[in-house]
Amino acid sequence: MFERVLVANRGEIACRIIRACHDLGVEAVAIYSQADKDSLHVSMADQAICVGQATNTESYLNLAGVLAAAEVTGVDAVHPGYGYFSERDRFAEALESLGITFIGPPVEAIRAMGDKASAKQAAIRANCPVVPGSSGTVENESEAQKVAAEIGYPVLLKAVAGGGGRGIRRVNSDEDLARNWKTAQAESLASFGNDEMLVEKCVVEPRHVEIQVLGDQHGNMVYLGERECSVQNLRHQKIVEEAPCVVLSPETRREMGEAAVRVAQLVGYTNAGTVEFLLDKDGKFYFLEMNTRIQVEHPVTEQITGLDLLQWQLKIASGEKLPFTQDDITLTGHAIEARITAQDPDNDFAPSTGLITKWCAPGFGGCRMDTHVFAGFTISPFYDPMIAKLIVTGRDRDEAVRKLTVALDEFHVEGICTNIPFLRRLVRHPRYISGDVSTAFVPEFLNEQTVSV
Ligand code: ADP
Ligand code: ADP
Ligand code: MG
Repeated sequence: MFERVLVANRGEIACRIIRACHDLGVEAVAIYSQADKDSLHVSMADQAICVGQATNTESYLNLAGVLAAAEVTGVDAVHPGYGYFSERDRFAEALESLGITFIGPPVEAIRAMGDKASAKQAAIRANCPVVPGSSGTVENESEAQKVAAEIGYPVLLKAVAGGGGRGIRRVNSDEDLARNWKTAQAESLASFGNDEMLVEKCVVEPRHVEIQVLGDQHGNMVYLGERECSVQNLRHQKIVEEAPCVVLSPETRREMGEAAVRVAQLVGYTNAGTVEFLLDKDGKFYFLEMNTRIQVEHPVTEQITGLDLLQWQLKIASGEKLPFTQDDITLTGHAIEARITAQDPDNDFAPSTGLITKWCAPGFGGCRMDTHVFAGFTISPFYDPMIAKLIVTGRDRDEAVRKLTVALDEFHVEGICTNIPFLRRLVRHPRYISGDVSTAFVPEFLNEQTVSV
């Protein structure tokens, strides 16, 4: 096992990684921006190094600064968390050249899954169903219209380099496509530095179901069941996730799991990764993309498999063999995660900043909280609005939903606005309670809210 690991991230995931290091007897080195000097991850770590000013570009995305921090502290390995450098092949490559282990997949696997077009090609080669659409990037508007004519409207124009729910645009007709093509391209160039687009069939009211995979460096790989992430905001960002998915039959779970492992193995994947799929109303599934990192919603998988995914990431990166096979993996109970954000639900979810004066968090059997904030902590405007993840586990889904409702009712925060009032209403919606959700659920729910106010 490593002696010392650098945590190249902030927020709840930095705390989560540090805890995993300590559980394994590994020293953790934190990096922080000037705005984060009083953060929990800084005080939890054995050592902390300031890597720059408040903005992400000047600190957590300051490549030279982060690499220098790794070098001067003499770490054996770096854990990138999610976001930031987690899916940057050049970061992993730079570490490699310094003789420092990147806790994640091989550089080639990151690259193969780095853009949505090449990821889709890999899925096709692995004999995994993909969403119908262009076979790669589309050169121009008329080519896009040709693809749309074949698959039928509505279609999505997707930035090949997109992520975080951004760079996806729905168009309903040739005229609509013509109107949107240039802006979609320009937006993609501005956001991701790349204007390549692909065209994809818009699956109507799908579920987002993803498979967690875990593979060692000795050729062993397992899938750890699925996560249902259909409860998404208007920007395609996940809000509430759960495991298992209520509509997945054991046969479909196996088919999806085996397809995910085939795709991952085809690109030489190791460590923890997630293959995302859409599941349509007929129970057919289609590959969307692969996230080559730990995901925000990994705790629900940990809760029902009893496996600590962060610890496994470290063990795998240090060369350990998986001591279990697919037959040893069992899913027990039901877990749900709600993302708590510093946003004002009564003001279009505008980010909320300032001093947290009161933080009364729930805590009881089956209620887990992954967070970096506390009373006295100041939310600065520079980072993602997610401030905590509330994770509940029950024997079955009904119990988990009840626990989530109780936990949200007990959760009181003052000084800043949070999405907790919104989540309280959401988990009481009959469709949520019955598990009858798709990615269209939140947009419909928000419409109902406007009507009833
Ligand atoms: P996950 O797939 O791990 O659940 P998300 O899909 O919510 O995470 O986000 C994917 C990645 O994009 C995460 O690493 C997150 O840090 C980042 N991200 C989330 N929201 C945004 C945003 N609005 N802009 C840029 N990046 C984002
Ligand atoms: P990102 O890299 O931003 O996470 P994804 O391709 O994973 O992009 O898609 C994010 C979300 O957008 C999905 O969870 C789903 O809600 C929606 N989406 C993506 N592709 C399609 C599609 N072809 N049809 C319908 N919805 C889609
Ligand atoms: Mg995605």
